[in-house]
Amino acid sequence: MKRLRVAVFGSTGSVGRATLEVISHLGNRFQVSTLAARSSVRAIALQARRFKPERVILTELPACKKTREMLGSGYEVDWGLDPLIEVATSTRTDILVMAMSGTMGILPVSAALEMGKRVCLATKEILVSFGDEVMRLARKHGGELLPIDSELAGLHQCLADVPTSQIRKVIITASGGPFWRSGPPPKATVNQTLAHPTWRMGRKITVDSATLMNKGLEVIETTRLFGLEPCQVQAVIHPQSVVHAAVEFQDGSMLAQLANPDMRLPIQYCLTYPQRLDSLVRPLRLESVGRLEFHPINQSEFPCFRLARRTLEQGPTATCVLNAANQVAVEAFLAGRIAFDQIPHIISRTLKALQTGSNKPGRRRSIRSLLRSELHASAHAESLVQRKAPDKEYPD
Ligand code: MG
Repeated sequence: MKRLRVAVFGSTGSVGRATLEVISHLGNRFQVSTLAARSSVRAIALQARRFKPERVILTELPACKKTREMLGSGYEVDWGLDPLIEVATSTRTDILVMAMSGTMGILPVSAALEMGKRVCLATKEILVSFGDEVMRLARKHGGELLPIDSELAGLHQCLADVPTSQIRKVIITASGGPFWRSGPPPKATVNQTLAHPTWRMGRKITVDSATLMNKGLEVIETTRLFGLEPCQVQAVIHPQSVVHAAVEFQDGSMLAQLANPDMRLPIQYCLTYPQRLDSLVRPLRLESVGRLEFHPINQSEFPCFRLARRTLEQGPTATCVLNAANQVAVEAFLAGRIAFDQIPHIISRTLKALQTGSNKPGRRRSIRSLLRSELHASAHAESLVQRKAPDKEYPD
């Protein structure tokens, strides 16, 4: 059996590390051909010694130099975006796992899809900001895009090859983060915000879970990945994180996907699809689950979720700007530069300033022009952070 060669971009983050665990577990079916990370020198050097990839890539030059020193000869260590694109399009790569945060991965992802490869995508920002174009490339060139995300992978499993005309709606669940019961305290601290009840993830996505922006981004991703209308995608709070997604068909019948919350399951699903193999995930015992609760999302307490839904009606520029502004605002919050309740404020002001509402939803935008919108949005959001955007009422 030929071993499939997997390039893991973002190998030192939580999804990247879990991907390497899954690949080890699956024995000789897969081999790691490339490891790439932003700047985690020590972690990537340890991974390289263990997995012996053909290439190691750091996106930052100083980190690349340090990694070279640490690994010595015998390893090909490069830096920057070009090597990532080279690897994504190389005949020596069968599968690309994209788990780098931010939109930097858009060029390698689109290049891999253009070569008809399988991309296992963990980076939400890519479908949110460039979803229509990414899906168009995948369709045109026979590329395969599989979502490394418990909710989207859950939907992928429920939907199989069902034509969209037979789907009434889909539901993705949200654990709700730490604040869903009473709404977030306006001056929630970084530590309160990072105390996620069910998932252990990176800091940015954990803040997004607390604001429910994460669920808003997933609603956007769902419409793009599965070609659904915004009104067909619903999100509900489900604190147990056992049901990840459900589909309601035209006849009223529903199918749901259930599993213990563990990222290694969607990762393995994407790597081995359509095969199912023994996994590292603890099987779900329904009798020990006890009860499953579902609650509506209170949009007035979670303005980030409301903003995400609204931009979906406004088309690709708006979702791109939303994502960029959110990224800046969340980083500013984590750095202690703005308060928790200023996050949605900065996003809505950036959306307004860039007049994203005036774009027609159906209008096609190239990746290049969306990248420009993203830069403008980031710069505008950053200027608002510097001015410490005054507290005003959130838009309704
Ligand atoms: Mg998710």
